[in-house]
Amino acid sequence: MSSIEYLIKPIDPLGHYFEVDLIIWQPQALQKVQMPAWIPGSYMIRDFSRQIVSIHAYEINAKQHLISPLIIDSLDSNTWQIHTTHKPILVRTKVYAFDQSVRNAYLDQFRGFYNHSTLCLQAVGFTDQPCLVHIEKCSWIHHWSLITSMEAKSIDKNGFGTYFVNSYDELIDHPVSLGQFQSILWKSYGINHLMVIQGASDSIDADQLTKDLKAITQSHIAFFEPKTHLAPFKQYIFHVNVSANGYGGLEHRNSTALLCKRSDLPYKNLVLDKKSYEDFLGLCSHEYFHAWNVKSIKPKAFQPYQLQQRNHTSLLWLFEGFTSYYDDLQLLRSNTITLDSYLERLSKTINQVLSTTGRLKQSVSKSSFDAWTKYYVMDENTPNAVVSYYSKGSLIALALDLYIRQFTQNQQSLDDVMRALWQKHGSLDASKPAEGISESGFKDVVLGAIGEAFKSTWNQFEKRFIHGTEDLPLKELFTSHGYALKEIPLSSSESVLQNLGIRSTSHEGFVKVTHVLDQGTAHQAGLCAGDLILSIQRERVSPNNLNSLLDRYKNHAIQMTVFRQDLLHECLIEKNDKGFSKLQITAT
Ligand SMILES: [Zn+2]
Repeated sequence: MSSIEYLIKPIDPLGHYFEVDLIIWQPQALQKVQMPAWIPGSYMIRDFSRQIVSIHAYEINAKQHLISPLIIDSLDSNTWQIHTTHKPILVRTKVYAFDQSVRNAYLDQFRGFYNHSTLCLQAVGFTDQPCLVHIEKCSWIHHWSLITSMEAKSIDKNGFGTYFVNSYDELIDHPVSLGQFQSILWKSYGINHLMVIQGASDSIDADQLTKDLKAITQSHIAFFEPKTHLAPFKQYIFHVNVSANGYGGLEHRNSTALLCKRSDLPYKNLVLDKKSYEDFLGLCSHEYFHAWNVKSIKPKAFQPYQLQQRNHTSLLWLFEGFTSYYDDLQLLRSNTITLDSYLERLSKTINQVLSTTGRLKQSVSKSSFDAWTKYYVMDENTPNAVVSYYSKGSLIALALDLYIRQFTQNQQSLDDVMRALWQKHGSLDASKPAEGISESGFKDVVLGAIGEAFKSTWNQFEKRFIHGTEDLPLKELFTSHGYALKEIPLSSSESVLQNLGIRSTSHEGFVKVTHVLDQGTAHQAGLCAGDLILSIQRERVSPNNLNSLLDRYKNHAIQMTVFRQDLLHECLIEKNDKGFSKLQITAT
């Protein structure tokens, strides 16, 4: 018998509530229970306890009948203490679930989705113990199915029933989808893969999706284990929720939860939005690569995850950045996108990184460490102060790849480093994890794979681009590999907007400034985030005519009026005809 059991009931779809029972068969005298403050993969304190609307504790008998209520004290925002007599206890919570993201929990009359970290209390002192997880089918969802990657113990044909996990850490790595699905199934090197899709507007083109996803997943498996074709999981599930305008993913050990928009998917007899579909395949590729890089190969700092507090590592550039590099590269290698598409996507990343000055102020190692308070908590100054460890991290992977190819005369590449990383810090058996990588441990992996002779190149590289804020010398690197990184002039209106240096959004018919970038003429003229732009040269500005008005006055100083906190202000935007360009990679 497991010492810990959970009973999860989707009791109220219209009010969006789950009822969750935690049973501890042999509790301590003062038994603590806790909700995690964050979910691994999303580095922000979220305090999931805020969704608990009621919590009660009871002594129970062997048949799980409630015998008597117990005293339960709050110790902090996420922790409770229950006074027991060492007899079995049941802690019953009612949890609100109305978050559409992949990080949380959602329930309505059409679908349900949750991560156990948002519903299930930890039984302190027992988190390394195996658990039984019973997921109950309530009468109103008789037509629903349940999809999860947990090990099934005793389930009905729709997937409801009892599951088993080895620990709380494993429990929170298996999201659950509830409802009705379109699904596709395929095998990659003998391993079962399943994609379940909710919310699509039409019949998906299963043939196209299966063909592409099979190619991508096989490419990843063969990348890490070219000889054995083994993977660190026995099955893999893509949970896909399709919404009006969503995008995002969260990685797990043998599954991923994805959010996309309707035009991202291929449909039978409908015209495919190629770019959107490539974005979707890139997302699938990214999260799947994480099954190796961050779910199996982990920073030592995450062993174990510190779920009650911020859990810092300066290595997210390696786990997110390198995964971002390989997500698209593997699309190319699996022939699911063309070389032209790949170069276009890579060019876009380069231009994104170069478009803000945050890259000159924060290194990717600092950005990783401070993700909790900076990258994940974006504000109006983020582009000026923060560098993305995703996009600059992916350029670091690209540049390191090109340096290694140059150094070894194309005998080796970053692939060899990633496989060495996998061999040293990864494990095919999730129950027997390898030792995590230390904060300075990547150097040993690189030199182990490429040789000690690469040491001075690596030391310089790490100092300048990982701990420093220098731009990567991509032009030179591309040139030496038969490609050119060319400057393409921006269109007139794009260039004017770059000169102005603002980002804006449409707000009740106004153009609302959301960001003022360093070094732009708007910054020098004193424009602020939150300003509503009313006029340019006395002519009314709307979201529809901003670009054309800027274009008309591109060679002039501009008189602009704005509302700030409902007061009218005038600003003089100085003339600045500096031409802007963007970079494009081309084969030479
Ligand atoms: Zn990621």
